[in-house]
Amino acid sequence: LASKLPRVGTTIFTVMSKLAADLGALNLSQGFPSFPADPALLELVTKAMRNNHNQYAPMAGMPVLREAIAQKTAEVYGTIYDPDSEITITSGATEALYAAVTAVVQAGDEVIVFEPAYDSYVPAIELAGGVPVFVSLTPPDYAIDWAEVATKVTDRTRLIMVNTPHNPTGRVWTADDLNQLANLVQERDLFLISDEVYEHITFDQRPHRSLMQHPVLQERTFVVGSFGKTFHVTGWKVGYCLAPRELTVEFRKVHQFLTFSVSTPMQVALAGYLSEPDRYLSLAGFYEQKRDLFLQALAGSRFAFTPTEGTFFQNVSYAAITDEPDYDLAVRLTKEIGVASIPVSVFYDQRNDYHILRFCFAKDDETLRRAGEKLAQWS
Ligand code: PMP
Ligand code: GLN
Repeated sequence: LASKLPRVGTTIFTVMSKLAADLGALNLSQGFPSFPADPALLELVTKAMRNNHNQYAPMAGMPVLREAIAQKTAEVYGTIYDPDSEITITSGATEALYAAVTAVVQAGDEVIVFEPAYDSYVPAIELAGGVPVFVSLTPPDYAIDWAEVATKVTDRTRLIMVNTPHNPTGRVWTADDLNQLANLVQERDLFLISDEVYEHITFDQRPHRSLMQHPVLQERTFVVGSFGKTFHVTGWKVGYCLAPRELTVEFRKVHQFLTFSVSTPMQVALAGYLSEPDRYLSLAGFYEQKRDLFLQALAGSRFAFTPTEGTFFQNVSYAAITDEPDYDLAVRLTKEIGVASIPVSVFYDQRNDYHILRFCFAKDDETLRRAGEKLAQWS
């Protein structure tokens, strides 16, 4: 069989989580919480099932959930999306990203991808016949050189992929980043996908700036969100796409044949749960404490790091300890000290030796303390 994705193997998240499980290691690799979701949310699911919300949801999503998202989005970002024609519920952010890419990318189109990039972007682009054009960001600050981006945008550029707060680096876009992007796209016929699944996880008083808040950007952007990160339910796979009407029309043409619709009782429960803003607004403080707990354990070790700006990932450099490739070290640490992480080089197109590992701190405090101690001791 001639592979359509010859360079793609099994995603690193599956590889590292399996290794961690097989070896009984503390799993700070794949990004998911080790603690339970709010019982109040679970109650709402049971209630939805008992109330017979067990058949297909409408293709675009349950109206109650689309309305709740529209209301929340208006309150948090001041941007109005019409629940009927501009909001679509998807099977996680993963489906929304795939559907948006498929909706706009034609064979031969170029797509600007900032790397390191979340690992589902490039395969989606390539399956649509698109050509990824990489802008490489480098540690320690992963700042975007907008003059370089300008040189990569051509008449063939159809789409630019944005992710803020950024997985795996934790970087959060500034107002200047948004303005620079707006200047670049203003006169051009191209689209944007903004992956904002970590919208509520930013630290040290830093605001999340959504592309929907900038009018020049909003009119050409598919904003992608997910409840998995926000409500500690990554296994539910409920996400959504916010996009202006004409974009949503094309988006839904793909979505309806990719999954058609998404788990009904989960949607009803999430709609009810969204009614209290503190449930998502408290998330930043909750994770900032966990970040600081993990970093306290690493202080004084030979790992180098700057506190992550957002997401529940902390990148650390081990350059002062060993020059092993990051993949080899991630495997070795899982085996030898029982702590699993993600090698950041896998999120680049070309091999590199930046010597960075990504640790997920969406874990109970005891796990974070134990992992931090083991790592500090090893270093
Ligand atoms: N985008 C980013 C940046 C992610 O980190 C993830 C993984 N959680 C996803 C998309 C996929 O989200 P979901 O689980 O909702 O499909
Ligand atoms: N987003 C999660 C991470 O970055 C993983 C999601 C997945 O396993 N596909 O770790």
